Amino acid sequence: MAKAKQGEIYRVAGPVVTATGISPKMYDVMQVGEEGLMGEVIKISGDKTIIQVYEETSGLKPGEKVIDTAQPLVAELGPGLLSSVYDGIQRPLPVLMDRMGDFINRGVSAPGLDHSKKWTFTPVAKVGDVVKGGDVLGTVQEFYLTHKIMVPHGISGKVEEVKSGDFTIDEVVAVVDGKDITMLQKWPVRIGRPIVKKLLPDIPLITGQRVLDTMFPLPKGGAGAIPGAFGTGKTVTQQQLAKWSDAEIVVYIGCGERGNEMTEVLSEFPKLEDPKTGEPLMQRTVLIANTSNMPVAAREASVYTGMTIAEYFRDMGYNVSLMADSTSRWAEAMREISSRLEEMPGEEGYPAYLSARLSEFYERAGRAENINGSVGSVSVVGAVSPAGGDLSEPVTQNTLRIVRVFWALDSKLRERRHFPTINWLTSYSLYTGNLDKWYRDNVAPDFPDLRQWAMEILQRESELQEVVQLVGSDALPEEQKMTLEIARMIREIFLQQNAYHPIDTYCPMPRQYKMMKLIKQFAELSNKAVSNNVSVDSIVALPIRDRFAKSKYEETIDQELDEIAKELPDVFAALEAKA
Ligand code: ADP
Ligand code: MG
Repeated sequence: MAKAKQGEIYRVAGPVVTATGISPKMYDVMQVGEEGLMGEVIKISGDKTIIQVYEETSGLKPGEKVIDTAQPLVAELGPGLLSSVYDGIQRPLPVLMDRMGDFINRGVSAPGLDHSKKWTFTPVAKVGDVVKGGDVLGTVQEFYLTHKIMVPHGISGKVEEVKSGDFTIDEVVAVVDGKDITMLQKWPVRIGRPIVKKLLPDIPLITGQRVLDTMFPLPKGGAGAIPGAFGTGKTVTQQQLAKWSDAEIVVYIGCGERGNEMTEVLSEFPKLEDPKTGEPLMQRTVLIANTSNMPVAAREASVYTGMTIAEYFRDMGYNVSLMADSTSRWAEAMREISSRLEEMPGEEGYPAYLSARLSEFYERAGRAENINGSVGSVSVVGAVSPAGGDLSEPVTQNTLRIVRVFWALDSKLRERRHFPTINWLTSYSLYTGNLDKWYRDNVAPDFPDLRQWAMEILQRESELQEVVQLVGSDALPEEQKMTLEIARMIREIFLQQNAYHPIDTYCPMPRQYKMMKLIKQFAELSNKAVSNNVSVDSIVALPIRDRFAKSKYEETIDQELDEIAKELPDVFAALEAKA
């Protein structure tokens, strides 16, 4: 039967190769052509096997051999993942470049993990313990992270032997039920790793970004989308999330269209500093980058590979932030493959299964009770880059039907240099109801009300602006002018946040509360003053207002906010006395 495992190329159409003479299973990994290019079976039609190839196919010819590995696409999981930079099929880019210089040749296989490096394994389980898949046998220190070595799924029984010392990932560290256990696991990337159950998303992923944490929060284990035209801040926002969110692990999947976008990520990401340790952020990051010389099909593999790695760390009980930038590039790859397959095109040429694929991906997000009893999460933020920023296009629309957080980036805000450009009127989080208890218990009992108050002011501003457009702002009564001024404070002091300013780049939750509370205090005192015939202009001209606006750039901001709050009643009393 060995003969059946080898067939030959019948036809080549870009990244799609048709082979005959074999009968593989769906999603078997194939070695295509004399060079053994890597591909996956995506369709079987009679005696024809259709393969999407993850490497450049130019020069492949009908008649060349095709070998069925009879294995699905798997990720290598184990010590050594952190700080790795991979291509779409988990080949370490530095290894590839080292071997071939800058131009990556085809048909090169390089394992995801270093198989020669020794790691110090510290046992946790003892001989005689009864264990099952997911249980922790021991640990390896990987930078600041305790990497847990878990029993592979499908194995259970008595621990017969457990070692201690330095081992490669291929050496046996324990024996369970007669089976040798190493630190290396392999997992088919298209299949989610098992959990006991998903937990309610009721703890926020704290990002230190005011507009996100206060206005449109994402829970740990939640899924959100960040759509925006070119240059609106998708990458900056995702990097802020990578850097600051309270997740132990970051998985960053770069699907760049232009070669330079990816080069940027590859050169910039390793320079990011982890604010928690002062060390490179890469020490708790796995970076997956589709280089421009890989064909589009690899984008799909990269998305699944990244998700599998994220789930592996979730299984250890960690919180993982997974960023995909941009899912539009993945969708475009689906469109290209689909058209090569001559499938019936759906909306704008995307395949009918676009929506199903996207939801399969986002549904792997979640906070979960793991099978070893620990709790971990994978939070997913997918950037979407609709052409011209048109949010009605199919990728954005299909994504919106799945995710419950929507951070809409707005080119108009960018023109006004309002960063982050997250539009407060069109963005939303459907999780606030789940999260409000956490905010009440952990930030302040009135936190949800404060958010509500701010949103109403912003809403009111947009209504008033329509009036202003018609009749000019002078025609507005003073109290409405005051509302506009308060809205401006919310926007300029609170919502705007400079990712590049050393203080402003991260705003802890208590400070977010204090800032918003102070704006509200300011609003209440102003409204009272206005009703006592104080002019809006004189309120706006108050030096203390300016001091408040600038406080977010001061090292001493927290004291400043307290002092301003204390002085504010007297300042207004004096103003009213004068009037
Ligand atoms: P995109 O990925 O959407 O094409 P980028 O994330 O590269 O856009 O952002 C484009 C530019 O916008 C950045 O180089 C930066 O100058 C500016 N920018 C975006 N977000 C912020 C922010 N929060 N603070 C300051 N500048 C920002
Ligand atoms: Mg970008």
